[in-house]
Amino acid sequence: MKNTFHLPVLLFLFALIISACGSTTPALPTALPIDVGATTVSMASTMAAQTMAAIPTETIIPTPTEVPFYLAANIWAEDARVPIINYHQFAPNTSEKSTDHKIRMEDFVIGLDALNQAGFTLIHLEDWIKGDLSVPEGRRPVVFTMDDVFYNNQIRLDENGEPLADTGLALAWEYGQQHPEFGFKWALFSNLGDKWYAAGDVEGKWKEDLAQTIVWSLDHDARIYNHTYRHIRLDLSDAQGVQWELQQNDLFLRELLVNAGREDLISGLGNMFAIPFGYWPEGSTYSAMVNYVAPEGQPMLAVFDIDWPVRIKFMAPPYSPEFDPMKVPRIAMPPEAIDYLVEHQAEFPTMVSCQVGPLDAEQVDNPDYVAGAINASITSGACPAGVYIIEGTTFDARPGISPQLMPQG
Ligand SMILES: [Zn+2]
Repeated sequence: MKNTFHLPVLLFLFALIISACGSTTPALPTALPIDVGATTVSMASTMAAQTMAAIPTETIIPTPTEVPFYLAANIWAEDARVPIINYHQFAPNTSEKSTDHKIRMEDFVIGLDALNQAGFTLIHLEDWIKGDLSVPEGRRPVVFTMDDVFYNNQIRLDENGEPLADTGLALAWEYGQQHPEFGFKWALFSNLGDKWYAAGDVEGKWKEDLAQTIVWSLDHDARIYNHTYRHIRLDLSDAQGVQWELQQNDLFLRELLVNAGREDLISGLGNMFAIPFGYWPEGSTYSAMVNYVAPEGQPMLAVFDIDWPVRIKFMAPPYSPEFDPMKVPRIAMPPEAIDYLVEHQAEFPTMVSCQVGPLDAEQVDNPDYVAGAINASITSGACPAGVYIIEGTTFDARPGISPQLMPQG
């Protein structure tokens, strides 16, 4: 009798439990096992503490869990557009207004700050062309160049070897120190046989001063490139003339570094050229220019043009079919150029970030493995297609391209 009475009741209760389980999503126990356990233990220990105050509070040791491994990627989901601004000389604030050739010191610093506020960050021109496309997340790349270097109010050092405050690069250096998100990176295009550094004293002290200024520049991320030895017009020169001008400038730069005891800086010198006046050579003179090889054997990496902001143009990424290393656009008239960039800042893409994974930590040094993980992240919709930079390595994962290492220059 007892069994026949109890069995239907138990079955009924069991059916209730089953139906309850079926109608309720069992989210709590599977999603939050540790929290539930911790709450239970915590409640128990609180109750125990209330009744037996002498017993010390329990320490809860969580169960070790497998932490999934991800790599942070910075991604160009849209192709970058890099403005290259070209400066020349500087004018005191007492000058009436800035011109395309001489910018008032005050206007110069206002421009740096406007670009910084608009999210721009200085990058190294040579590094970008060689394939280092990294910019901090949310920032837009911009390049500063200066022509006809070295001239007094561009940069000059005091007796302690520090740049004088009434020179343009000193102001830019100070701004970059105060605003590291903007930084201080320059490409200086030099005419070492044209602008005598100071007054060109008979004893040749200017050579020592110039050498020290060059050393300061190279030591502080202002890299030095070629603008011909004497600032010649290439359209009026011939192949031999261009070859001599480029080589003479390079040789004198190296001579000054050797005399200053800084031969160590020579290995870091590149081979890039900005055309004086924007007058392009033709025929064999053109060939001599693009085929010029620097003293240590570096082939010509890039040749730079110059144009007005009314025809404003930007540098495409080096992988783009639009990128022509032998005619890279630069923009004259910095104040107008900067006004344009501030106004149109939203048209200059920034890098986005995404977590690629989960990954097997032991395989992340294998580019093929990482490329596969990038592919999976894109396919799943977790990350966008684009150019990926992961731990300093660049992968081409643009739409329609099977993710792979991006060749570096
Ligand atoms: Zn020039």
